[in-house]
Amino acid sequence: MLASMLGSSLAVLAGFASPAIVGSTLYHGGHLVLNDGRGGTARALLEKDGLVVATGTLEELAARPDAQGATRIDLRGTVAVPGLEDAHGHLEGYGASLQQLDLTGVPTFQALVERVRDVAKTLPEGTWIRGRGWDQNLWEGGKFPHHLLLSLATPKHPVFLERVDGHAALVNEAALAAARLNGVIDPPPRIQGGRVFLDDDRRATGMLLDAATSLVEKAIPKPTNEVLRERFLAAQEKLLAYGLTCVHDMGTSPAMLALLQDLRARGELRLRVVAYLDGMGELDKKSLAGFPKAPDPKDMLSVPGVKLYADGALGSRGAALLDPYSDAPGENGLMLLAEEQLAERLALLARAGLQPAVHAIGDRANRVVLDAYERLAVAVPGFRDLRPRIEHAQVVAPKDWPRFPALGVVPSMQPTHATSDMAWVEARLGPERTRGAYAWRALAPELGRLAFGSDFPVESPNPLGGLFAARTRTKVGGKPEDALLPEQRLDGAAALAGFTSGPAWAARQDDRRGRLLPGYACDLTVLGVDPTTCDPAELLKDSVRMTVINGVVVWRAAPANAAARGG
Ligand SMILES: [Zn+2]
Repeated sequence: MLASMLGSSLAVLAGFASPAIVGSTLYHGGHLVLNDGRGGTARALLEKDGLVVATGTLEELAARPDAQGATRIDLRGTVAVPGLEDAHGHLEGYGASLQQLDLTGVPTFQALVERVRDVAKTLPEGTWIRGRGWDQNLWEGGKFPHHLLLSLATPKHPVFLERVDGHAALVNEAALAAARLNGVIDPPPRIQGGRVFLDDDRRATGMLLDAATSLVEKAIPKPTNEVLRERFLAAQEKLLAYGLTCVHDMGTSPAMLALLQDLRARGELRLRVVAYLDGMGELDKKSLAGFPKAPDPKDMLSVPGVKLYADGALGSRGAALLDPYSDAPGENGLMLLAEEQLAERLALLARAGLQPAVHAIGDRANRVVLDAYERLAVAVPGFRDLRPRIEHAQVVAPKDWPRFPALGVVPSMQPTHATSDMAWVEARLGPERTRGAYAWRALAPELGRLAFGSDFPVESPNPLGGLFAARTRTKVGGKPEDALLPEQRLDGAAALAGFTSGPAWAARQDDRRGRLLPGYACDLTVLGVDPTTCDPAELLKDSVRMTVINGVVVWRAAPANAAARGG
């Protein structure tokens, strides 16, 4: 594991180009997609002090007085689009995942046990082993596991393994003991918004759902500030290499916020971050004082709002549904915050002028949040202008679809969730409710009002995979006829808007980001193909050539296929 970690961080270093450009730059020799809503393109772009000054042809721009002395960058036939922006990710979790055991795609429970045992052999006794990414839906039978085999293989190391969606965890006996959940548990613990699974002997199976995962998680030693910093810096380099120029961090912890502020002050924050504070803990007037923070002039860090959770996730049956799960009669999922608690917190945010971003996956959770937003739109003047967000909006009853545009609620959705979940989503929901799953066209009929992201580390942050999923609604290598609800597919321009102007709209920064127009930030993602016109399959073969933020080249691919700077 260490060797592969070192390998990837070396690759990142090799790809890093020092950002020393100041003044102005003239990009030419390529194809620029403006995302101006009219299909506009250009051959060249003039940047000054981090902003787009003008677009046009090289001749037109070179003749301008303000282009004299500009550094020239030859795009060499590549395609520059407005910087790609991920509207929903988890920086700390992603950074940690780069250092954790990656269990994505593990085909059997036995294989998972072997992987963990191999890691345990390399670590001193008592060291916590963290992993994530396993998915019981890939295993025969598709059932949640029991910890017994895992505990036999790792008797001396507490183990905490998050499910792929981050909404459930499998822990071993040593971890249960650390959280005093070992032995017979009677009566079963009652946890708001969570569940400890028990076996026939009334002992914990090792499966913890949603809020119950924190029972064990809080027994794990907290990362030091130094570890947090390492995690963020590792995440930052990876995200820049994926061509992302901005990410919305969902549920920023106080320690992470302090780190981001420190990095910004030192000029080490190279990726634009829009932070939504974690609102699940203490939330009072005092803790919210000083927010929302106005962005710095270069917008590298802004704090427009707070992230809350209404319910859990679909894969672990924690999403709150109006009617029971089709494959688990009697189970409706769970609300992480009771309706009144949620309403109270939202009212506090609305009065503080903070933008709410509420995780809602099931049709019940979505309705509860929409109801709360509707009441606040009446009770609090200016609430609509905060652009209240719903994160995921995964299963929405058709009669609630028009409430998104009508109330000005921003759907913040993840195209790769649709394609990762499509194998089992109909089993969970049945055919009727599946019509309202990942219905991004239905929730945001107007171009540029839909914010796309990846929910990294739940999915890969690679936005090319997201663009592919948005256009095809099929798995990689899938056939068009296998698409999940093909009527919800987007064309190339709308998919690109979902990763550019849409997230900028969701962050309330659409007046200065997401389009290549004069006065907008010069954020560019340089690709080999034009994502608005290419065949979707070409997106998966393509790679990022260069990433530019505020006119500074923050990442470029190895020289062989990079767009070189010329004279
Ligand atoms: Zn998330």
